[in-house]
Amino acid sequence: MIIVRTIAGIVHGVRTRPSELAKQMTAAGIRPTAQRVRVLEELARENNDATAQELHRRMATTGDKIGLATVYRALAALSDAGLVDTLTHGHAETCYRLCATGHHHHHLVCTGCHRVVELTDCSVGEWVAKAARAEGFEATSHSLEVSGLCALCRRAA
Ligand SMILES: [Zn+2]
Ligand SMILES: [Zn+2]
Ligand SMILES: [Zn+2]
Repeated sequence: MIIVRTIAGIVHGVRTRPSELAKQMTAAGIRPTAQRVRVLEELARENNDATAQELHRRMATTGDKIGLATVYRALAALSDAGLVDTLTHGHAETCYRLCATGHHHHHLVCTGCHRVVELTDCSVGEWVAKAARAEGFEATSHSLEVSGLCALCRRAA
């Protein structure tokens, strides 16, 4: 897949310390193995989202000899624990993102430059519950990802 990435912000806010990441993992109920900490540390540098392959490539350029399969496994565990969000936005590869909030939220994803914006407001819960109930379902969760073009990409188009 081809990703056109903006130069904007390589650092995801403040660089998160490994000890802090390990603490978050323990709190989320998963063992903070060295590999998981390294993968999460790399993801924390990403401002938007990244695929396992991208993270693996970046880690390799800094001399990290972690295998691609290990990166995939670490991301799957982190995602299962709810520490990272997965985004699909139409690509074959899953994109991972370390989100600013651990609470339920949604994303706007730019298909032009991969910019990701977090929407903290969820106003579809009620609609989901009602639509599910109408079919005899009890909705337990939902996910929603909105794809489109960000303001910068729209201006460039
Ligand atoms: Zn998010
Ligand atoms: Zn864009
Ligand atoms: Zn929601």
